[in-house]
Amino acid sequence: MSVAENLLRVREQIENVALKSARLPAEITLVAVSKTFPAASIIQAFNAGAIDIGENRVEEAADKIPSVDRAVGTGKIRWHLIGHLQRRKARDAVALFDMIQSIDTLRLAETVQRHAFALGKQMPVLLQVNVGGDPNKFGFSLDHRDVFFRDVERIVSLPNLRIAGLMTIGPLVATAEEARPFFRGLRILRDDLAQRFPQASWTQLSMGMTDDYAVAIQEGATIVRIGRAIFGQRETTT
Ligand SMILES: *Cc1c(COP(=O)(O)O)cnc(C)c1O
Repeated sequence: MSVAENLLRVREQIENVALKSARLPAEITLVAVSKTFPAASIIQAFNAGAIDIGENRVEEAADKIPSVDRAVGTGKIRWHLIGHLQRRKARDAVALFDMIQSIDTLRLAETVQRHAFALGKQMPVLLQVNVGGDPNKFGFSLDHRDVFFRDVERIVSLPNLRIAGLMTIGPLVATAEEARPFFRGLRILRDDLAQRFPQASWTQLSMGMTDDYAVAIQEGATIVRIGRAIFGQRETTT
């Protein structure tokens, strides 16, 4: 199957699940996750209609983004950073990406703020939440909600960050259904944050990947991040 055919199939699936859940397909953004795949694959996806592209590593993205932008036109693709960001790479990330979905500590948020200010940019961000408290995952912990809410209070005050919502990575489970409580948990948390911090925007819920995006959409995902179903199996694991 070609990237274009895969993309079409994923789009149809998103539309079906959305309509069955009484949701509008247009309120769900598909981020095609191109990590490990070359610039040529991204250009194929763009030519088949993908305009939101996700990468999980800054160096890899720094190699690919300029050449893809040259090929398709700068500003045509919205680039999403979806992987853990080290603070020393924050400057490059702010310069390269249109959205950073993986703000996972207050310190990182403050570092991104500094670079966004220096670059004269308003940086759209999502806060990544470790809903299941998985020790192998990045993201804000919810073990001590008071601590989390204190961090969020600081983050919403950072003038060059434009908070758009939350992101989570579902648990590694045998069936997608088992991920449902985690996605629901993120939505409930989002609703809580929207009450507590109405000065920020909490519209976006980035949740759902190749194996679990249908369940995520049923639970309110507004952004799904899909790699393998579009680009095929990855050879390396990242
Ligand atoms: C790789 C990755 C995805 C896409 O995963 P697939 O299973 O290939 O759909 C989504 N989100 C994050 C954070 C990733 O690292």
